Amino acid sequence: MQNNILVINCGSSSLKFSLMNPINGQVILSGLAECLLSPDAVITIKHHEEKEKSNLTSPFDHQVAINFLVSYLAKHQLKESVYAIGHRVVHGGEQYSQPTLINADVKQSIDQLSKLAPLHNPANLQGINAAEQAFSQIPQIAIFDTAFHQTMPEKAYIYGLPYKFYQDHGIRKYGFHGTSHYFVSKEAAKMINKPVEQCNFISAHLGNGCSVTAIKQGCSVDTSLGLTPLEGVMMGTRSGDVDPGVIFHLVEQLGYSLNEVNNILNKKSGLLGVSQLSNDCRTIEEAAEKGNKQATLALSIFSYRIAKSIASFSCNFQSLDGLIFTGGIGENSMLIRSLILSQLSLLNFNEDKTANEHMRFGKQGNISKNSSTPCWVIPTNEEWVIAEQTFQLLEQEH
Ligand code: AMP
Repeated sequence: MQNNILVINCGSSSLKFSLMNPINGQVILSGLAECLLSPDAVITIKHHEEKEKSNLTSPFDHQVAINFLVSYLAKHQLKESVYAIGHRVVHGGEQYSQPTLINADVKQSIDQLSKLAPLHNPANLQGINAAEQAFSQIPQIAIFDTAFHQTMPEKAYIYGLPYKFYQDHGIRKYGFHGTSHYFVSKEAAKMINKPVEQCNFISAHLGNGCSVTAIKQGCSVDTSLGLTPLEGVMMGTRSGDVDPGVIFHLVEQLGYSLNEVNNILNKKSGLLGVSQLSNDCRTIEEAAEKGNKQATLALSIFSYRIAKSIASFSCNFQSLDGLIFTGGIGENSMLIRSLILSQLSLLNFNEDKTANEHMRFGKQGNISKNSSTPCWVIPTNEEWVIAEQTFQLLEQEH
């Protein structure tokens, strides 16, 4: 197969990659470079069920990681099989609602959009630059996390702020996790044998970052994350919605700097902040089971806020084909799913306990009782969407 796609997801100190067959989603090789920009930088490559971990050399950056990967691919006769590279890019603003062939102008736009995603877009751009250096003859495609939500109507994406902030500075809801919501909605449509364009779903991507999306006739019509990935439901370390007045109070009355508040809301809140234990749902569930009150409170707030978000998005529909759970927590936590569904009986969700217990560790299926609205657990596969869309764009252009 000479049409493999190399999928790259670059963070500020990490680089995740998979070499995939875009037609059937088969993963030929995958891996992760971590602790980049520090002498602890390592790269782990999984190939033929075996994992190989190596230290990276100075300057320990994204380029070193990509160069290591390229040598590995060449050594295993896989370099020639790379047809194109698909990059996950977090923020595409209003310009990008489709997969886009990367050129100098596109890179400039991604750079300009860094002011809306300062933690993500610069890192994505580093990955693009490093991949361009290493694979100079190969097309590079950007798949934007915000793209799927570009179908939202104004009433969903305009904030109740003076309109000039939107007009002059693009301050609006953009939404994220679009690739994941898109993938699971297509999978759910397959499960009920209906074209996705005729389906209405609410999907809940629950991982360390969490978002809920209303998907009407296959298109996103509202989503919980906003201008930045801080709005909406409570997450692993992010607060989600708080009264903006809390920020003034922290700064003016309690003397925190804006930087500190930013750090608190993004990194010290959510499951971690309330539980005072961890941002990891498994750890909190274990502690709650042993009677830890803060852990129980964290799970209760987390599930209530998600249920509330799902219920609020129901106002977009006359009828609903089903609810979808995905992401590390959505795919694995019976407890969180059960807590959420128990608060949604008015929308006719009724948990089937046996099915809920069964649907974990990569299994896919309905966890709602027969007579009620379906609720599916569907493992997400953002890498496959990136590979597929990269391949399709190039095929269209030929
Ligand atoms: P993600 O960001 O999608 O990788 O999801 C990470 C989150 O999924 C963490 O909070 C994990 O604790 C949670 N998670 C993974 N496996 C389980 C599990 N078996 N039960 C509960 N939570 C889980």
